[in-house]
Amino acid sequence: MSDEQQYLMLPGPTPVPGNVLRALSTPMINHRGPQFKELIEEVTEGVKKVYQTQNHVVTFPSAGTGAMEAAVVNFISPGDRVLSVSIGVFGDRFAKIARAFGAEVEQIEFPWGEAADAEAVGARLAEDRNHEIKVILVTHNETSTGVVNDIKAIRQAAEDHPALLIVDAVSSLGAIEVKTDEWNLDVVVSGSQKAFMIPPGLSFLAISPRALQVAEKCTSSRYYWDIKSAVEYLEKGQTPYTPAISLYYGLRESLRMMQAEGMEKTFARHALYRDMVRGGIQAMGLRLLADDKVASSSLTAVVAPENIGANRIRSHIQENFDVIMAGGQQKLNDIIFRIGHLGHVRCLDLLAVLAALEITLVELGMDIELGRGVKRAQEILAKGR
Ligand SMILES: *Cc1c(COP(=O)(O)O)cnc(C)c1O
Repeated sequence: MSDEQQYLMLPGPTPVPGNVLRALSTPMINHRGPQFKELIEEVTEGVKKVYQTQNHVVTFPSAGTGAMEAAVVNFISPGDRVLSVSIGVFGDRFAKIARAFGAEVEQIEFPWGEAADAEAVGARLAEDRNHEIKVILVTHNETSTGVVNDIKAIRQAAEDHPALLIVDAVSSLGAIEVKTDEWNLDVVVSGSQKAFMIPPGLSFLAISPRALQVAEKCTSSRYYWDIKSAVEYLEKGQTPYTPAISLYYGLRESLRMMQAEGMEKTFARHALYRDMVRGGIQAMGLRLLADDKVASSSLTAVVAPENIGANRIRSHIQENFDVIMAGGQQKLNDIIFRIGHLGHVRCLDLLAVLAALEITLVELGMDIELGRGVKRAQEILAKGR
């Protein structure tokens, strides 16, 4: 089967719509000329709408992790005390990057599969009477477990503390609402290959005026990732170094699609995907890693039956049905599999994937009745449309 007929059910990269693929093949232009200026201005306005912000949003040609590193080197100086709130692999990654650049990182960890307790974060900050903590790092949607943190509650818990709040929203922005300005988020990081429906290679940072002031005084070494020069160039409709021009063409197309649908509808559609997949999985008799209250609209982590193992399910469904699912990371390897349902996914794709999963489970020896999961998902779809 060709790649185009695969069911790419990963939490990134996600399927790229045909009109976006075609836009990616637009001929090159001068990145210092008026056409690129128009392009970057339209795209930046569109990305700001998704972020719900009036702040500067800069774009880098990189994976999401590049923007995480940019968030560290522009806003955290070596020796700064950083409070890292982690509920999984990506929370840990943010802490590791901060440590790599000399920050004194204190980590508050929560069990994998659970959300962060905003009150516990608030209590730790309240103890910090001398305001030694300069930055709080937190993941919005933890892609390794399919859990969403309540960023608004964490912001409120941190309200009386001057630390910058830096949020990794790579797998949520565009699928799950992020109110950058209303929630008073200082830095919000995202990336192209998830809800934005374009290939990997662009990352975004929204930066509050307060964060920009911190960047002015930040002593961490940086050159390529320097926010100040990125903001200065953006004001001229350029980037400091050669941008990934093709990806901007793709992004312009995908942002137009998002605007045509409307953000409210986009979020509701993703919530419906979540409910369909979770309902279907439960009706098959499988266990979900996350509770309903904290379950992600971007992806669902499923606990595999112990006697089968998650990786056998993944290879069977890939070989027989061209359904590509993600595995568990680190200590969750072979324990869970993850179904991505963000970006350019359709309801009927999900029904097909659930049907293939049921056949897979039966072929691997699980005693289930075919069709129960699909039926449950259909019922949820019929009610939720
Ligand atoms: C995908 C993702 C990233 C970035 O991953 P890259 O592979 O560097 O693009 C960061 N944080 C979260 C939560 C993610 O899901």
